[in-house]
Amino acid sequence: MADVSLRNISKRFGAVEAVRDLSLTVNDGEFLVLLGPSGAGKTTTLRLITGLESPDAGSVMIGGRDVTHDPPGARDIAFVFQQYSLYPHLSVYDNLAFPLRSPAHRVPEPQIRKRVEQTAELLHIASKLNNRATRLSGGEMQRVAIGRALVRDPSIYLMDEPLSSLDAKLRAELRLELKRIQSELGATILYVTHDQVEAMTMASKIGVIRDGRLLQLGTPREIYENPSSSYVASRLGTPQINLLPARLLSDVAIPPETETVGIRTEHIQIAARNGGQMVGRVHRVEHLGEQNHVHLDYKGETLVTLADPHRPLRAGQEVELHLVRPLCFDRAGQRIDAMV
Ligand code: ATP
Repeated sequence: MADVSLRNISKRFGAVEAVRDLSLTVNDGEFLVLLGPSGAGKTTTLRLITGLESPDAGSVMIGGRDVTHDPPGARDIAFVFQQYSLYPHLSVYDNLAFPLRSPAHRVPEPQIRKRVEQTAELLHIASKLNNRATRLSGGEMQRVAIGRALVRDPSIYLMDEPLSSLDAKLRAELRLELKRIQSELGATILYVTHDQVEAMTMASKIGVIRDGRLLQLGTPREIYENPSSSYVASRLGTPQINLLPARLLSDVAIPPETETVGIRTEHIQIAARNGGQMVGRVHRVEHLGEQNHVHLDYKGETLVTLADPHRPLRAGQEVELHLVRPLCFDRAGQRIDAMV
């Protein structure tokens, strides 16, 4: 089975605790995305799995086997980096064939041809096999880099922000491709990023990481709908979840120890004034085509909600607000209502 487990892993660099008591399992065939800001410990976690770093405490298991002390070459893992790391003087074909020609693999040439051609088909770069790597567009280069991982047919793929150097259009295209390839191959992927859209669109599970700690692990939907803390809630969703001091919501039923209430933009409904208690004033309406973002002033706070573009709303107008699903957080930002 191609699964990876980290058990209570810690790694320190001098004064920096890069990874703190982190436990995580990527099951066979799962696309797990570790989502976190810069410096959260994402790359270090991947390097600990490859064996490029060794942990101060804890163990790394691959396919049920403890590999904590095995050298990187013995772990049957492929790593795709942010930078393409191709050999510029070689053709696409030779770049793809390279990992199979290493002395460790000794794959016969006809078999190499077959694997390279299959991989190029899968990645839609079959017509570029004779091109030099430097003659490719950024998106094609990144496909080749991903292809170099695929040809080896490893048990686990680790990917470190492989799409971050591409423009928005290519990123969107390759997100779909990667997801398609992963489900076609049934591949096990651990992918790290700080991009919530990548996490939401590709992941079968998301792990939210901050300061070397895993804060929550779940399906994108679980994490979006049932975040364990206000920090996790604010990591997913555009526009960001509204976080309001609880004392401003005297008429909403919430646990008494609530400090902050989170309300997703789609969970604030606006209506004409009709004697209700929560009255806000429209501050600004942003037109985004099929949807408007409405910025509202409510007791000195700004709330953002969504509205139908055909709805006539103008700045200065007073409206009634109805909160559908408030999420309650305590002083430390931890969720205190119906929990995950
Ligand atoms: P980014 O998104 O910016 O790549 P990251 O989440 O991948 O960030 P890491 O690269 O794992 O974060 O770094 C976690 C912390 O460990 C950071 O504070 C970083 O400066 C520190 N760190 C990582 N590698 C080393 C090293 N070799 N020596 C010293 N400090 C390091």
